[in-house]
Amino acid sequence: MPLSGAVLRELQEVVGEANVVHRPDDLRIFERDGSIAGAVPDAVVLPATTQEVARVVRIAARHDLPVVPRGAGTGLSGGAVTLRGGIALQLSRMRRILEIDPHARTALVEPGVVNYDLQQAAARYGLFYAPDPSSQKACTLGGNVAENSGGPHCLSYGVTTNHVLGVEAVFADGSVAWVGGDAPDRLGLDLLGLLVGSEGTLATITRIKVRLLPLADAVVTLMAAFPTIDTASQAVSDVIAHGIVPAALEMMDQVTIGAVEAHYRAGYPTDAGAVLLTEVEGIQESCAEQAAAIEDILRRNEATGLRVAQDAAERELLWAGRKGAIGALGRIRPNYYLHDGVVPRTRLPQVLHQVGEIGRHYRLPVANVFHAGDGNLHPNILFDLREPGIMEQVEAAGEEMLRAVVEAGGTLSGEHGIGIEKNAFMPWIYAPADLEAMQRVKRVFDPEGRLNPGKIFPDPGRRPRLTARAGFCAQARWW
Ligand SMILES: Cc1cc2nc3c(=O)[nH]c(=O)nc-3n(C[C@H](O)[C@H](O)[C@H](O)COP(=O)(O)OP(=O)(O)OC[C@H]3O[C@@H](n4cnc5c(N)ncnc54)[C@H](O)[C@@H]3O)c2cc1C
Repeated sequence: MPLSGAVLRELQEVVGEANVVHRPDDLRIFERDGSIAGAVPDAVVLPATTQEVARVVRIAARHDLPVVPRGAGTGLSGGAVTLRGGIALQLSRMRRILEIDPHARTALVEPGVVNYDLQQAAARYGLFYAPDPSSQKACTLGGNVAENSGGPHCLSYGVTTNHVLGVEAVFADGSVAWVGGDAPDRLGLDLLGLLVGSEGTLATITRIKVRLLPLADAVVTLMAAFPTIDTASQAVSDVIAHGIVPAALEMMDQVTIGAVEAHYRAGYPTDAGAVLLTEVEGIQESCAEQAAAIEDILRRNEATGLRVAQDAAERELLWAGRKGAIGALGRIRPNYYLHDGVVPRTRLPQVLHQVGEIGRHYRLPVANVFHAGDGNLHPNILFDLREPGIMEQVEAAGEEMLRAVVEAGGTLSGEHGIGIEKNAFMPWIYAPADLEAMQRVKRVFDPEGRLNPGKIFPDPGRRPRLTARAGFCAQARWW
C-alpha cells in the first residue's frame, strides 16, 4: 500500500527528498534480492548516518510500518525482500571505511561498505579481512554480518562471526547501542553473537568493527581434475583427515566447469568429472610442504592435470572462474535457484548423487559449485522462467534436495541464511520448543514484529505480496 503523503514528508525531512524512493516504477528495482521471490516495498529510504536510521525507525514505529534493512541485495534467501511491504532501509549511502588501525589490526566501517573495498583498503597495510563471499565485489559488510556470511577462504579462517568484534545497532524503538568491543573476552551477555546472523530481524547494524589478519607470506593455488565427483569428494575427505586444513577447498562439477571455461578461458579441463581448487597460505616453507602433501593425496585419488598457479595473475584467473561461476551458468539457462545445505563431508558423494537424480527426475539441469572442505553444497537448479509452470518444478526439486541434505545428517544453510526460502523447513531441524525459545528472543528485541517480518521462522500462509521471480544468472557477472 502506498505510504500517505504525510508519512513520506516525515521521511523526507529526515533524509532529504532525493533519498526517499516512492514512485511505483522506481520501487520495482528494490523488489528482490538474488533469490527466487520478490515483493515491492512501500518506500525505500536511504539514510546517511546512524541518527537518520534511528529517526526513520522511530517514524516506522509510530506508523506501524515494517522495516527491512538492505545492503546490496545479493542475498540468496530472500532476506532483503519486503514481504509485508513497509520501508526498505537501503544502507548504500553509509559506505565509509571510518578507520583502519594497522597496529590493533582492526577496521571500523559503515554497513554499506562493499566487502571487496575493505579488502583493497586493508591490503595497503599488509592486512586482509578473511570472510570473502564469492559475491564480494558487490555485497556489503552489513549484509555479511546479518547473514553471518562465509566464502571460499572461510574453511581455515572461520565465517563472519569469527571476525566481528563489535557493532553499533539501531533497535526497533530507535534506540542505539554498541554491542561487543575490542576485548577478546567480552563480559556480560553475548548480544553480539545474537546479532551476527540475525538477518535484519533484531536490529539494523550501522557500524561494524572487524578483525583484520596479516596477509600471508606465501600462497599456493592448485587446480586438479578428477574423473568423477566421487573421487574428488574422497580427495577432500582425505586431505582433511590428513590433518591439513587448506585456506580454501572448492569443487566444481562438469556442468559448471563447461560454463566457466567457455566464459573465463581459465584453463579448466572440460572433460573432467570434477575440479578441485585448493589454496594453502602461510610462511614459505610450511606452504610448500602442505602443498606437496596435498598434491600427493590428490594424485592418490586419481587427480590428473595438476596445475599450480605460477603468479598472481594466474591465481586470480582461476579464482575468477570459481567466484564468477553463477554468472557463467547463464550460458545454460537464464535463471537459477541456489541452495546451500551442509552435509558431513563423508556424505558428499551420496548427497551429490541424490541431487543429480532429483534434477533428472524434474528434467532440470543442476550445476554444483561449492565449498567442499566445509561440506557446504551449492546445487544450482538452472531454468528458464518463461517456461509455463516451471517455478513449481524448481521449488519442488529444491525442497527434495534440502530433504536429502537433512536426511544425511546435514542442515539447511551454511552461509546464505534462512530468510523466506527455508523458514518453512525450520521444523525439520528444530523442535517446537527450540523454535519458540528463539522467537521469545525475537519478541524481546522486536515486540511488535516490525523488523524484517516473516523471515527465519515458519510463517504459514502469510505471503500476500510475494511475486515469484527468479535469480538471474546474469546478475552475478561482476567478475
Ligand atoms: C553470485 C553470488 C555469490 C555468492 N557467494 C556467497 C558466498 O560465497 N558466501 C556467502 O556467505 N554468501 C554468498 N552469497 C550471498 C550474499 O552475497 C551474502 O548473503 C551477502 O552477505 C549479502 O550481502 P548484501 O549486502 O547483498 O545483503 P542483502 O542481500 O541486501 O541483505 C541480506 C540480509 O541482511 C540484512 N541486512 C543487510 N544490511 C543490514 C544491516 N546493515 N543491518 C541489519 N541487517 C542487514 C537484510 O535485511 C537481509 O536479511 C552470494 C550471492 C551471489 C548472488
